[in-house]
Amino acid sequence: MKVALVTGSSRGIGAEIARKLYEDGYTVVINYSGNKDAASQVLKDINNNGFIYKANVANYTECEAMVNEVINQYGKIDLLVNNAGITKDNLMLRMTSDDFKDVIDVNLTGTFNLCKLVSKYMMRQRYGRIINMSSVVGIHGNIGQANYSASKGGIIALTKSLAKELASRNILVNAIAPGFIDTDMTNVLGDSTREAILKQIPLAKMGDIEDIANLVVFLSSDKAKYITGQVIGVDGGMGI
Ligand code: NAP
Repeated sequence: MKVALVTGSSRGIGAEIARKLYEDGYTVVINYSGNKDAASQVLKDINNNGFIYKANVANYTECEAMVNEVINQYGKIDLLVNNAGITKDNLMLRMTSDDFKDVIDVNLTGTFNLCKLVSKYMMRQRYGRIINMSSVVGIHGNIGQANYSASKGGIIALTKSLAKELASRNILVNAIAPGFIDTDMTNVLGDSTREAILKQIPLAKMGDIEDIANLVVFLSSDKAKYITGQVIGVDGGMGI
């Protein structure tokens, strides 16, 4: 049995990652922060091969309880996907300190919390894969997203540092940098913003959740056993 913990997998990219990992033979723990109905639906989609767990990734104690529950039930974690993320966009002059802190807390500190808690078990297992969800704006920056871009850039630096730190224990750590993917997160954008973004994408269309989930399946497979510390763009060429 292969066990995966996917944060923020009740909706969007995370939900599709859970479904694709299940198809690939994984038992999947579906983490969410509030939307229990959506998480339960994803669990049905994967034929109850796992369980749902409510935990705010920004809260270390809640993360610890979740990881303990996975270990109690399955005795190991083969794959951690740090996917949970939020946006609180605004131009910096209008961005409040709370908006900055909240996004850093969930996206960056949340990723750190779970890397720390899960890698302890992966080190003992002498095996593990960690995949962190960054973003194209974590590399290039974006107007109105100082908080989000900083959090996603931080995830890249965290990924590279942990890849070096954990390689000797056979734990591979990589990041994915999606471009503009069709989910609830991007549905809130207005038509003019959407058109402006599309103009920056050489493939001239948004990505699908499958485009990201397929890469997660590859990075978690034996075919990716010599890849660590990388940031892989899935962005229709947006990051060129
Ligand atoms: P989404 O549709 O808004 O879904 C976000 C998921 O994260 C939901 O399952 C949500 O759970 C969960 N979540 C939010 N805050 C959480 C918290 N504090 N603790 C635990 N779970 C939490 O987002 P998405 O578009 O699928 O994005 C997934 C990841 O890809 C994010 O890290 C995002 O930054 C990144 N990304 C997305 C795009 C894009 O274009 N969509 C581009 C680049 C990067 P609930 O259902 O309980 O709220």
